[in-house]
Amino acid sequence: MRALLKKELRSALPFLMLVLFFASLDWVSLSLTEYPEQFPLSKVLTEEHRTDAQITSFIMAIALALGLLVRERDEGTLAFLDGLPVSRARIFFCKVAVAVGVLWLIPLAGFLLNVTVHALSWTSLNTSMHWGLLLTAAALDAVACVIYLAVGLALSFLRRFALLALGLLMWVWVLLRQMEIPVAPLLDIFSLGDPVFEGQRWLVPWPKLAAQLSLAVICAGTAFIAFQHSGDSAERLVARLRRWRGSALLAGATTVLITTVWIGLVYYWIEESDDKTREKVHYTPWSTARANTARYQFLYPDDRNASVRELVNRADMVEAKVREFLNAPALGSIVVDLVGEQPRHAGQAYWKKIHMNLSSDGAETDLDQLLAVLGHETAHVYSDHLSESRLSDKFESTRFFSEGLASFVEYHLFQPPAKLASLRRVAAVTRARDEVKLQELFDDSQLTRKRDRDLVYPLGEVFVAALVKRHGAEAAGKLLRAFARKKAPKDLRGFALWQDTFQACGYNLSETTDGFLAELDLLVAEHRLFIDSLPRLHGAVAQGDGHICVRVSHEGNAPGKIVCRFRPRADTEDRFYELRFAEKGNSCEVRSASYQERSFWYQLGWWIEKEASQVIYGPWVEVLRQQ
Ligand SMILES: [Zn+2]
Repeated sequence: MRALLKKELRSALPFLMLVLFFASLDWVSLSLTEYPEQFPLSKVLTEEHRTDAQITSFIMAIALALGLLVRERDEGTLAFLDGLPVSRARIFFCKVAVAVGVLWLIPLAGFLLNVTVHALSWTSLNTSMHWGLLLTAAALDAVACVIYLAVGLALSFLRRFALLALGLLMWVWVLLRQMEIPVAPLLDIFSLGDPVFEGQRWLVPWPKLAAQLSLAVICAGTAFIAFQHSGDSAERLVARLRRWRGSALLAGATTVLITTVWIGLVYYWIEESDDKTREKVHYTPWSTARANTARYQFLYPDDRNASVRELVNRADMVEAKVREFLNAPALGSIVVDLVGEQPRHAGQAYWKKIHMNLSSDGAETDLDQLLAVLGHETAHVYSDHLSESRLSDKFESTRFFSEGLASFVEYHLFQPPAKLASLRRVAAVTRARDEVKLQELFDDSQLTRKRDRDLVYPLGEVFVAALVKRHGAEAAGKLLRAFARKKAPKDLRGFALWQDTFQACGYNLSETTDGFLAELDLLVAEHRLFIDSLPRLHGAVAQGDGHICVRVSHEGNAPGKIVCRFRPRADTEDRFYELRFAEKGNSCEVRSASYQERSFWYQLGWWIEKEASQVIYGPWVEVLRQQ
């Protein structure tokens, strides 16, 4: 028995050297390229870093496995081993044990490296060793090694076809994943050790672990039976194949196939990891926690665990409602970043990524509000996806619809009715003042020049409501898909673009706009009292002594606070608008230093908390500067 072990160790020696070589490479590259003392755990445990380790283990395990059992037979040394007083089962376990031992040096080396690096980069803020995390990483890697080895062993009996079979199996897996078959992610053997955190706790993927361990048991069992029972027939087969005249041809064809299959796989992976890096989220290390649901990946400040938990629990329900309304196919995971602070907006959505604000003062966050914002932003993500990004490409012409649709989803699916009324009051006032102009709504720069650009929320919601009333709930999704159609004319904008898209759906744009205006008139009637309670605001501008001052006047009682905002140019981005609440004598003042153009602009509005969802602004007023 000892002789057997010694023999196995001797034949595993090249692999042992290779493993040690790779391990030392990590140390060298670390000391050369990074400052080890500035390499905190959050960096060590990133997905890329972890994937590299997985791939090294995988290649080593497969290389080791392919020769481990079959070489004895192919080289004819098995008969010799059979002559020894040890059973084949013993030989099998001895070989596997040595192989696992060698492979486990990879996670062990990784673990030692991580501990060292982490110890070096201790800061005053991060003085805990996080043994739990480091050990979990190492343990999952160790299990992954066993799984790789088992798969390799089962395939090794296919001899020269083993690599081909492995490549084909991977393609089958890729296909299953593309078809969104639910078992596919469970069988992703490279993702077992992916770091998924809740707070600072590593979430061990138990179902995945169970599925892959079962796979390993099946593979190892197959290999064991093959090793036990197939007598010399395999050896004879190999010999016969070698003598066969077509063998060279077969070998050539196999090589070509293997190369094709694997180059394809590598290409696929590179494409995919490119996608991943494009979506990569940068976050402040370690204070950020992650939580995954079936549809979202949440990134949030570690200390906000409690307020985020309910959001995470109910997020997939939000996604399901939005997706049902738009009749959209499921997307992969949507990243929700709750860490960054967006200045004014409740949320923002880009391609498969959402930014949302938790209330910054650390107060208990309003869950229903967060869910509604999540619904709004998810609607943006799916709109963009369904329209194959044409919606955001034609931003100027589509912002009204895009925000209207997201607001419709937000207010009809997630907000209480009282909130919808507060949104619609803004639309009603705008209509009553005859400030709803269709050509402005289909051209965002015109709207922004003349009016409050946030009017797209209340007015857009009414427009989408009119659309749904006229053409049914599926109309929004249908329009989005019509944007993506292949033969859509490329250069249309504004009204023409919308006419074309409506036509493609068999809808009539002017019918819907008529419905929209009629709906607004109904709202005017419904909110008459509110509209009448809102006096028109007038401004008188005084310039001098380094200030611009707008004195505001109105008839009747003030229903709320008076707001005045300023911009130096018509095309100033809205985040640079200067906003003032009226003070004593109803005047609003800004320093004139930032208003050095020929003219400047101001806009007056009523801020009526609770009753209106946003400040109700009048049109922008342009004023010539007094030099
Ligand atoms: Zn929006």
